[in-house]
Order: sequence, then C-alpha cells, then structure tokens
Amino acid sequence: MSVLKPGIEGRVKGVEDRVVEACASCGRDRGEVTLLAVSKTFPADAVLKAVGTGLSAFGENYAQEGCDKVDWFRENHPELRLTWHFIGPLQSNKTRPVAERFDWVQSVNRLKIAERLSSQRPEGMPPLNVLVEVNVDGEESKSGVTPAEAVAFAREVAALPRLRLRGFMTIPAPCTDPEAQQAPFRTMKRLFDEANAEGLALDTLSMGMSGDFEAAIRCGSTMVRVGSAIFGPRDYGHGH
Ligand SMILES: *Cc1c(COP(=O)(O)O)cnc(C)c1O
Repeated sequence: MSVLKPGIEGRVKGVEDRVVEACASCGRDRGEVTLLAVSKTFPADAVLKAVGTGLSAFGENYAQEGCDKVDWFRENHPELRLTWHFIGPLQSNKTRPVAERFDWVQSVNRLKIAERLSSQRPEGMPPLNVLVEVNVDGEESKSGVTPAEAVAFAREVAALPRLRLRGFMTIPAPCTDPEAQQAPFRTMKRLFDEANAEGLALDTLSMGMSGDFEAAIRCGSTMVRVGSAIFGPRDYGHGH
C-alpha cells in the first residue's frame, strides 16, 4: 500500500487513483474522463495549489465568487491556461459577468438563460461551451429540465449563435449505495445517446461528484466534478 502525502497533493492523488480504477473496471480509457476540480468556497491560493498538482479545469457555483477568482488568475497568473466552468444556479441578472469570463456554463436550464448567455458572450471570445442541466430524479429542490424535455430543449440551445452545446449535466439525489447510484446515470447516458442519434454531436456527459463518481464513470460519464475529495470539507460559514 502506498502512503498518501498529506494535504491537497495526497487528496488529488487519491482521486486520480479512483478515476483510473473506475475506468479500468469498465474497460474505458482514462483519457475519456475529465477531472473537474470544484473550487467553490475555496480561495485562489487553494486553487493555485491544485494547479501545482497538475489540475487545470475548475468549477465554480456562485457568480460573484467565481468571477472574482477568474479575474484574480487573469491578473496574477496570465501564464496559466486554466479552464473555468460555471456549475451553479444562474439567475438572469448574473448572466453577463459569467458570459464575459467563463469557458463553460454547465447549468443551462431555461431558454431565457441560454439566450442571455448567447447575446452577452463577447464577440472576441470563442463561443461559450454549455451543458443542459437535467433534473434526473425530479427533485423539487433541484433545477434542471426533465428527462422528457431534455433532447428538445438541447436542440433549442444548440441553435443559439454564441453558444456551443456540448452535452448534459446532472446532479442526482444523494445516494450512498454504489448499485443504486447507477440508475440515474444510466438514464442520462440514454438521453445522451438519443441526442447524438438525432445529430446533436454532443461530447460531454458531466456526472459524478466526490461520493459517486465511480458509478458515473461506469455509466459513461465524460466529466466528473469533484470538490470535497480534492479540497477537503467546505465551510459555508462566510457568506454563502
Ligand atoms: C459542489 C458541487 C460539486 C462537488 O461536490 P463534492 O461532493 O464536494 O465533490 C459538483 N457539482 C456541483 C454542481 C456542485 O455544486
């Protein structure tokens, strides 16, 4: 058994080992799965340490906090090639700063939000990569389109000029049983394949978090969003 290094280096190594093992367990290539580090609530210096371990894609949930972090990196570390994903609930009055800074928005769940992001994406930037958020378990507390609406809604989003639709994102109801975790992920994989069969050319299925990403990978996830297993437990005490 290897001895894990303390701190973020050891945690990233542990997550990477789990991703490799999950891919191996279902005959997938490690290169098919992107590891997105969810840095919400953690300061820029924690993100910088994560960059030091080789991570380059980061997920943020709150518009103000996320935009501040993107700006901090552009100002202080313009040499770093980082990719920023907005993954949290997005209100229509917050779309502009997000459209002006982020590379991806994973939480597109209403046409109005998609239209605003498209019209507010600056001309000088590449199209904004977006994912349609699907409320796969139909939970009241979660946003996202229903599985039944997902493919038709994806088609509408794909038609917007300054967006590039890449796929779907989902956050299933919390569940600790590895077998039961697979049901919603299988539903998502079916929708993903269905959309592609209709010609949408999607390449990203964002599903799986610290507690369930192995199950997600076995069901076809191409991007896992991992927060606490990388950065440690979050403290929501200051403002959120
Ligand atoms: C916070 C968050 C994550 C990461 O959750 P962990 O359980 O800490 O890995 C992933 N996706 C979304 C949308 C989140 O809000």
